[in-house]
Amino acid sequence: MTHDDFTSQAAADFLDRFGRAADGVWSAPGRVNLIGEHTDYNEGFVLPFAIDRRTWAAVGLRDDNTARVTSTFSEDEVEVELAQVSPEILDGWSAYPLGIAWALGENGIDLAGQAGFDVHISSDVPVGAGLSSSAAIECAVAIALDERWQLELDRPTLARVGQLAENKAVGAPTGIMDQSASLLGRRDSAVFLDCRSLRSEIVDLGFQAAGLEIVIIDTKVSHSHATGGYAARRASCEAGAAALGVESLRDVGVADLDRAREVMDDETFRRVRHVVTENARVLATVRALRESGPLAIGEILDASHVSMRDDFEISVPELDLAVVAAREAGAIGARMTGGGFGGAAIALTPSHLVAEVTSQVAAAFAEAGYTAPEIFTVKPSDGAKREL
Ligand code: ADP
Ligand code: MG
Repeated sequence: MTHDDFTSQAAADFLDRFGRAADGVWSAPGRVNLIGEHTDYNEGFVLPFAIDRRTWAAVGLRDDNTARVTSTFSEDEVEVELAQVSPEILDGWSAYPLGIAWALGENGIDLAGQAGFDVHISSDVPVGAGLSSSAAIECAVAIALDERWQLELDRPTLARVGQLAENKAVGAPTGIMDQSASLLGRRDSAVFLDCRSLRSEIVDLGFQAAGLEIVIIDTKVSHSHATGGYAARRASCEAGAAALGVESLRDVGVADLDRAREVMDDETFRRVRHVVTENARVLATVRALRESGPLAIGEILDASHVSMRDDFEISVPELDLAVVAAREAGAIGARMTGGGFGGAAIALTPSHLVAEVTSQVAAAFAEAGYTAPEIFTVKPSDGAKREL
């Protein structure tokens, strides 16, 4: 299906489910993080881009205070009174869209005085692949409600609303990167975000002119941000910052690492070293893109993967194999992307070698006895927008 087909299908499904026409259809993209992993909650730097996989939200206001959500993703129809919406009553997938309404309330919007709404969601962002289907659903609903409720919030504010929904309504302790990429992304460009000041700059990627593509290798190994490893990594980063007497690891430079090694245990030190060197790699990537173009960033992507594998220990054997096999097949740089413990790897690949990378990675997985990965390319695309 083309994206125009998704838009008209979303409108048709809304009509079907709710028995009236939607006010409009809004969409927001998933994202790939080119580089800068687990740096966002350390107030560091990230460089994601919005991708050409999106989530659509067909929305219609109601004349009462009820909110109803449906999705192609699930049979449920979930209904709440807006005046009553709170993290305690939200769970499952509907916590993402309804959490946005709650988070807008936390942002000073009087929910009891707002018109209710019906939302129907559809998506071509793979779920749980590390491409942030969660931010896509949040941001599509956020821009729809912002427009229909005439809130006129700016996009950095809507990104914070999305993050609040994910942190408190869903309960996943994630940073601001995903929502920022989904809301601020631009075609052929990445979003260079300083997660401390929340200032962002658009950086030209120039993939097409350089004859490069981003290949995604979805390992199908499932990850869950709401549990285990992610929270443990955040705790290690906080412990490392506390041991160094700084507010966050953003305040630690590569030159401080020798001192860091002396004031914390080895595991905490390696977690800190990943974050500190990853911040430096994001800055190096932005500089290389601006000064030399995308052919110059391959080695930096490779180094990022090694750091996540050995220091931050968030890779899995499937991701490591994806990276090695893609490089052997001709990718100029490759790394796991997203929160880790599964999900996807990216491989920056010359266009004429995409088929080769695809078949060699698939063959390597088959030989290792792993579940077949899903392999596809993504293009840096525009952020959230109204479609209809
Ligand atoms: P990721 O963001 O990497 O895809 P997450 O675990 O953060 O993975 O978010 C995935 C969750 O988001 C799903 O389990 C589901 O609850 C929700 N979600 C994503 N897309 C949709 C959709 N189209 N309809 C309903 N819920 C969705
Ligand atoms: Mg997510």
